[in-house]
Amino acid sequence: MALEPYNEKRNFSHTPEPKGVVAKNSGQLHFVVQRHLASKLHYDFRLEMAGVLKSWAIPKGPSMNPADKRLAVEVEDHPIAYGAFEGDIPAGHYGAGHVDIWDNGFYRAVETDDPIEGEKLLLQGLQEGSFSFVLEGKKLQGEFSLIRMKGRQKGAWLLIKKKDAAAVEEDYDSEAHLEDIRDDIPKQSTE
Ligand code: MN
Repeated sequence: MALEPYNEKRNFSHTPEPKGVVAKNSGQLHFVVQRHLASKLHYDFRLEMAGVLKSWAIPKGPSMNPADKRLAVEVEDHPIAYGAFEGDIPAGHYGAGHVDIWDNGFYRAVETDDPIEGEKLLLQGLQEGSFSFVLEGKKLQGEFSLIRMKGRQKGAWLLIKKKDAAAVEEDYDSEAHLEDIRDDIPKQSTE
């Protein structure tokens, strides 16, 4: 895992985003979902693995309904410190727009509670293009799978909620779940 692509895309004298350094394993594995109002609104879904945040951009946002298969486009690894980032990326810079933390918490592999063993399984699943995990967030809870799509655009995955006690049957719109976001939330431009 390397953060060169992350650092190369950004000019840290102009953006308030954290500079990329690989972190030591903190024990428990974190996840974060950031609502990113850039040129197009999307949700950035990030899972801590091997000292970085593996990252996917989800145009429609995650869903708690197992009937939804949400496109999740793999993007560059982000530093662990990015998980605490909220704020404005200035115009003219990579990812220009507004970032809010939409949800965060811990996550683990489905197969084990042990974070070291779990991380190995997650890294293996990431390479194989299919893995499942349990999220313990405020909004996202229970088991999910990420599955790489075959023969499609490079880096295209699907994020799918598994049927469990936390799953919902009604339509799920992440934009209808903006509670707990601390500041005034800019809405998507309708231009
Ligand atoms: Mn983004």
